[in-house]
Amino acid sequence: KTFESLGIIEPLCKACEQCKYKTPTEIQAEAIPWALQGRDVIGLAQTGSGKTAAFALPILQALWEAPQGLFACILAPTRELAFQISEMFESLGSVIGVRCAVIIGGMDMMSQAIALSKKPHIIIATPGRLQDHLENTKGFSLKNLKYLVMDEADKLLDMDFGPIIDKLLKVIPKERHTFLFSATMTTKVAKLQRASLMNPVKIEV
Ligand code: AMP
Repeated sequence: KTFESLGIIEPLCKACEQCKYKTPTEIQAEAIPWALQGRDVIGLAQTGSGKTAAFALPILQALWEAPQGLFACILAPTRELAFQISEMFESLGSVIGVRCAVIIGGMDMMSQAIALSKKPHIIIATPGRLQDHLENTKGFSLKNLKYLVMDEADKLLDMDFGPIIDKLLKVIPKERHTFLFSATMTTKVAKLQRASLMNPVKIEV
């Protein structure tokens, strides 16, 4: 399989080449065609599986086709993971001019508010700080969001972000695409899945 055979457009195939991704990983080969069709996806996959590009490529492709406004929000349990995800979006998405903002705890609120005012396409956030901006940063909302990703959902829930995610789900449009990635399927992850995904395709690698 190639990225092209999965339905990825040429500029993004080129970006994969530049990142030295020769062939799609298993999670990418399974998830990308469904995501491009607009389906919600649950991916049970470990770090190292290529899960980040499995959600980043379909989101970037959809952004290429409709490049207006805040497009996607990626929730991550840790600052380190948020930065890694942001780097992935920047390296794969620079060809289409993607703008990302990393919104994490422990950093200056004001400079993040300025970054949000510049209308990023993609926000990569830890849940607590994102909620803080929704409550305190004038003019910022998630009401136009098209894609929501919850990465390492098992960790998000282990870190007790569940109640904040429930709050976030109330202010994110119901008409959206949702991807949930987790290393394991726990009772808590299953509950979050039922609360946030519609008729998802489940992929396990
Ligand atoms: P992840 O599981 O998303 O944390 O990715 C693990 C590592 O694999 C990262 O360093 C990626 O840059 C790399 N990677 C992702 N997709 C591919 C691919 N198709 N071919 C080779 N490396 C990849």
